[in-house]
Amino acid sequence: MLVFKFGGASVKSSGGILNLAHIVESYSKENLAIVISAFGKTTNGLENILDLAWKNLSYDEALKSLKDYHLGIALELFQKSKDPIFVEITREFDCLNKILAKKNIKNYDKLYDQVISFGEILSTKIVSAFLNERGIKNLWVDIRQNLKTDDTFREAIVDWDTSNDFINKTFSFNNTGIYITQGFIGFSEPGVTTTLGREGSDFTASILAYILNASKVVIWKDVPGVLNADPKYFDNTVRIGQMSYLDAIELTYYGASVIHPKTIKPLQNKNINLHVKSFIYPNDPGTIIGDVICDFLVPSFIFKMDQVLMSISPKDFSFIAENNLKDIFTIISKNGAKINLMQNSAISFQVCINNKPERIASMINNLEKEFVVSYETGLELITIRYYDTQTINRVTLNKEILLEQKSKHNIQLVVKDLG
Ligand code: ASP
Repeated sequence: MLVFKFGGASVKSSGGILNLAHIVESYSKENLAIVISAFGKTTNGLENILDLAWKNLSYDEALKSLKDYHLGIALELFQKSKDPIFVEITREFDCLNKILAKKNIKNYDKLYDQVISFGEILSTKIVSAFLNERGIKNLWVDIRQNLKTDDTFREAIVDWDTSNDFINKTFSFNNTGIYITQGFIGFSEPGVTTTLGREGSDFTASILAYILNASKVVIWKDVPGVLNADPKYFDNTVRIGQMSYLDAIELTYYGASVIHPKTIKPLQNKNINLHVKSFIYPNDPGTIIGDVICDFLVPSFIFKMDQVLMSISPKDFSFIAENNLKDIFTIISKNGAKINLMQNSAISFQVCINNKPERIASMINNLEKEFVVSYETGLELITIRYYDTQTINRVTLNKEILLEQKSKHNIQLVVKDLG
């Protein structure tokens, strides 16, 4: 069997869903588990609605516009406006509205997961009903009864043993060759939804593939495969035809957004190939990530914007040693900052982190009790895997290098734009 994953961009319109149907039709000989994200930018829309509701501001208009968006897509897909899917969509929105209006969940992260998960419930219900209407017979699976997690809301950790039992029972392929289910969401106890972290649907596909021993996962994207850089920041990108699990894990770790970082490990552990393909040109080759050796190592670039470089030194001019590193890490971790790069010298420790102003202010407050802290904002962190002098020169043109770290294959540079 194969696991397919369709992200929000692939199902943002009725045309996209029709395209999905064509792709699925062309795999009619295969058993498929299809994981789908929320339509287009629905997750962002739901985050905005929750934010308004949480602040006791009116969210009616935002909710209506999201409902109209879903009904509009359904109207274009279904011939009969009396199709039961319209009742279903309205019912889901009523249910969402009730949760928002009552707000009887006082834990924000828990409420977030109950609200945000509606995007995937709606998208999968609509796609499943549409495929069935077109004669592509499939069963809709509620992953909130199959993928068990702990209760770390918004970043839930998978309970593999329990999920294994549920998922194997549900995805038996006895009565159907196609299952449609939600990415990104799970459950911690019956009736309590959790989410796996933003962009987590790739990870769901990988979990299903691992548990069901899939022969392959295909992630359908709006790019021709894995590129050596994000086209947003880079001209003349190159598609990488084959990539090792190690390269994929390194690139996603450093911030390549093409695949969710947690996706690779389960696949590598069972040697399941991940195929990244274009949903616009489904016959094109894409990128295969697997147990391959690449003879031609294309330099890959990852850009992280809006970085802060912080320099931390003991007040009494003593060395940076294990005891003060321990204190520094404790403060960083307590303030929920993520270190993108770190380096130490005799009397100073430097970290490059994402710019989250409230967290940074509180972190500096804590650090300043023991250390002298200075920092610079508005920086860029550039990572190049398989670098050479030419690639370094290319990305540092008109930039001042503030920090540099090299290993055999990777270089990381914290740079400041000289305008
Ligand atoms: N819909 C979720 C998000 O936008 C999950 C996903 O698409 O992977 O983050």
